Amino acid sequence: MQHVYLDNNATTPLLPEVFEAIRPYFAERFGNASSIHQQGQQARSAVERARESVAELLNCRPAEVVFTSGGTEGDNLALFGMLQPGDHVITSAIEHHAVLNSSHRLEQMGCAVTYLPVDGRTMVDPDDVRRALRPETKLISIMMANNETGVLQPVDEIGKIAAEADVYFHTDAVQAAGKVPVDVKQIGCDLLTISAHKIHGPQGVGALFVRKGTLLQPLLYGGRHERSRRAGTENLAGIVGLGKAAQLARAGFSNGSVARIAGLRDRLETTILRSVDQVAVNGAGAPRVPNTSNISFDCIEGEAMVIALDLKGLSVSTGAACSSGAIEPSHVLTAMGLSADRARGSIRFSLGKQTTTEDVDFALKLVPEVVARLREISPVYNKVHA
Ligand code: PLP
Repeated sequence: MQHVYLDNNATTPLLPEVFEAIRPYFAERFGNASSIHQQGQQARSAVERARESVAELLNCRPAEVVFTSGGTEGDNLALFGMLQPGDHVITSAIEHHAVLNSSHRLEQMGCAVTYLPVDGRTMVDPDDVRRALRPETKLISIMMANNETGVLQPVDEIGKIAAEADVYFHTDAVQAAGKVPVDVKQIGCDLLTISAHKIHGPQGVGALFVRKGTLLQPLLYGGRHERSRRAGTENLAGIVGLGKAAQLARAGFSNGSVARIAGLRDRLETTILRSVDQVAVNGAGAPRVPNTSNISFDCIEGEAMVIALDLKGLSVSTGAACSSGAIEPSHVLTAMGLSADRARGSIRFSLGKQTTTEDVDFALKLVPEVVARLREISPVYNKVHA
């Protein structure tokens, strides 16, 4: 059976080149990067080459790259590493839970947190950031691209506000990297998170950019790895994979790969809008990453649609989270003002480098069929259309 994967914001498949780059590090090149013998030196130089590739992707110095276990750790390190009880942090209502739940914990520890609202396109208003500043504000943490809608936040402007106010700025760029250029100098941020598995690298590895001179407390204590910013023997194979994925992500802007994905996403979106009634694109009209399309289908339960599509061979996702058996509407979609029902009827389609024209054709054939079938059995739809 054909199976098409359009859930690349959840995770991406390893590119074959990444797999080939990693393979020897599970076998003959097994050294510990801290050892002084040849195997150790070989591992060290592989880690440092990967650091250079990540630095090139982000336009920073290699020494400013700290390898982590992924996006969640990068976000935690940025927040807990910078903040002390009594400090104030400004974040937004639409952050990933890696930032939101860290912020809740920081509140319990005695920090003050401002959660900025967003507009109807899931965009933060930079003026709100300015207005939320207090004398005790230490950090602003606003994501670069939202994982559900793909909407890009005005991080360049926020970076300027942070610099003027002499406040540190962290941005979670997990969903932006590889999709739009991520340049820490242009953004003017002090900290920036990326994760390998969102850019066709392996799961369980990522990096945090830490601007030179930024005093960051580590989360983990142990050896002096990563210049004492992250203790623990380096995840050698993972880091090599991240380095290769970063190289390929960077190349994607000049070799047509990103533009190709943008074309496919646009065709998917416009065709669904034409072929299915009572649908709306969430975040439409805002700048968005080129691979993501979040669509609300009226009178549809998103979970039911995900299951029905999966049975027919198409993997997509809802923004909804299932906790204790109840389906909670997405915090992102409710923050932009969608009703709980509308938010529950939203589906995220996210494309990757492996997505083909045929994959999109397959989705375009299936989606209208499944929507029609679900609406046929929907009491709400039938009442409205009786
Ligand atoms: N931040 C954002 C915006 C994400 O989309 C994700 C993953 O979905 C994360 C952080 C967490 O990254 P990881 O899965 O590498 O821990």
